Amino acid sequence: TAQTFADIKRIDPEIDAFLTLNEAAAKKAAAAQDDAGIEADKPFAGVPVGIKDNIVTKGLKTTAASKILNNFVPVYDATVVEKLQAAGAIIAGKLNLDEFAMGSSTENSAFKTTKNAWDHTKVPGGSSGGSAAAVASGQLPMALGTDTGGSIRQPAAFNGIVGLKPTYGRVSRWGVIAFASSLDVVGSLTHTVRDAALTLNVIAGHDKKDATTADLAVPDYTAKLGQSIQGMKIALPEEYLGEGVDPAVAEQIKQAAEQFRSLGATVETVSLPHTKYAVPAYYIIASSEASSNLQRFDGIRYGFRAKDVKNLEDVYVRSRSEGFGPEVKRRIMLGTFSLSAGFYDAYFKKAAQVRTLIAQDFDKVFEDYDFIIGPTTPTTAFKIGAKVTDPLTMYMNDILTIPVNLAGLPALSIPAGLVDGMPVGLQLIGKQFDEQTLLQAADAFE
Ligand code: GLN
Repeated sequence: TAQTFADIKRIDPEIDAFLTLNEAAAKKAAAAQDDAGIEADKPFAGVPVGIKDNIVTKGLKTTAASKILNNFVPVYDATVVEKLQAAGAIIAGKLNLDEFAMGSSTENSAFKTTKNAWDHTKVPGGSSGGSAAAVASGQLPMALGTDTGGSIRQPAAFNGIVGLKPTYGRVSRWGVIAFASSLDVVGSLTHTVRDAALTLNVIAGHDKKDATTADLAVPDYTAKLGQSIQGMKIALPEEYLGEGVDPAVAEQIKQAAEQFRSLGATVETVSLPHTKYAVPAYYIIASSEASSNLQRFDGIRYGFRAKDVKNLEDVYVRSRSEGFGPEVKRRIMLGTFSLSAGFYDAYFKKAAQVRTLIAQDFDKVFEDYDFIIGPTTPTTAFKIGAKVTDPLTMYMNDILTIPVNLAGLPALSIPAGLVDGMPVGLQLIGKQFDEQTLLQAADAFE
C-alpha cells in the first residue's frame, strides 16, 4: 500500500486521474489485513483499487466530478464497493470522470482534465477517463468504471487496456449516482482479461437493493480462460467498418479478424441495419432519464447551495444554475423537452421504438453467431480541446458503443494494435449474460 501511494504521487501529477486519495484509511485497512493474517486467501487481498467518483464510498468524498456535489461525503458504500472490500480490496481513491458521467473525454469534469496515459496532449476518453488513465499509467491494477453509452470501453480503448461492460442487471447499481437508469452498468478497467474476470467474479450478482439485478447464479468467470475457441462463429457487422471509421483503425480490426480465424474461429460479415439510429435514440433516452434522475440535486438535500438567495424557488434555480456544468444542463434541457406532454410521442416514444429495433438486430445475429467483433471507437484518442466546443462531433464518437447499451448486452474492449503510436480497441459484443464466452475469446486473442 505504501508503494501504491508512492507510485500515485510520482505518476499522477502528470495524469490527473485522482480526485480524492484515500491514503490514511487505505493504510489502516492494509495494516488490519496484515494483523488478521487470514485474509490472504481472499481474491483481492491487499490489492489497491480505484473507484470512479460517481460510485459512493462511505466517509470518502464522492463528487461525480460536479460542483453540485463538491463536498458530498456519503454515509454508505455502494454494493460494488462493499463487495470489493469484503474480497480484500483496498480503496486507494476516487477517480475523475465527465460530470455525472456525461461525456467522452473527461473534459466535462468540473475539477480537472485527465490526460491520456500514452500521450498527455490527448484525452483519456470518457466518461471513466480517470479510471482508465490510472490503470494504464501503472498506478493501479484495477479501477471500477460505469458504462451508460460506452464510458468503460471507449476510455479502455483510448488507453490500450481491457474494459468490461457487463450485461445490464448483472452488477448492482445500488450506490451508483444515477445517470440513465435503464442503461447504467458498473464494470472494470484492467490490464488483463483475467483481471476483468476476477473482478466480475466479485462484483456480479443479485442485490435485493437493486431490483433490476438478475437473480442468476454467478459462474466462475475465469473457468473458460485458456480454452480453445476452435469452431466459434464470429460476426463482423459491415456498419462497424463503414463511414466515419478511420481506415487505419478498420485495418487493425480486419487483422484481428484474421487472428481469430487463425485460432480456428470463423468470421463472417453481417448487418446491423439500425446502427445509424443508435446515437440520436440514445441521446433522447439517456437525457430523458438524466433529467428525471437529476431532479434530486435541488440545493436542499445534497452538496452545493447558492448563497444570498431570496426564497425557496431561488434556492433551487440558483443552486442548479451555479452547480451544474454546461453539458449537464444541455442534457437536462434536451431530456425535459423530450418528455414534455406535446413532444413525448414524437421524441421519447420514437426513441424507445428505435431501441427495440436495435435490440432485435442483435438478437437476429446471435441466432447464428457466438459473438460480434468491431472497433470500440471510430478513431484513436483525440487531442484535448479538439471536440469540446462541438457536442455533436463528440456524441458521434460513441456510435460503436451505444447500440450495446441500448440492447443491454455485455461487451469487452481489448487492445488490438496501434495507429500512429496510439492504441486501437477491439470490441467484443456478446449475448445477454454470456460474459464467459467474451472473456474466453478475448483471452485466446490476447
Ligand atoms: N459518452 C456518452 C455520453 O456522453 C456515454 C457516457 C457514459 O457511458 N457514461 O452520454
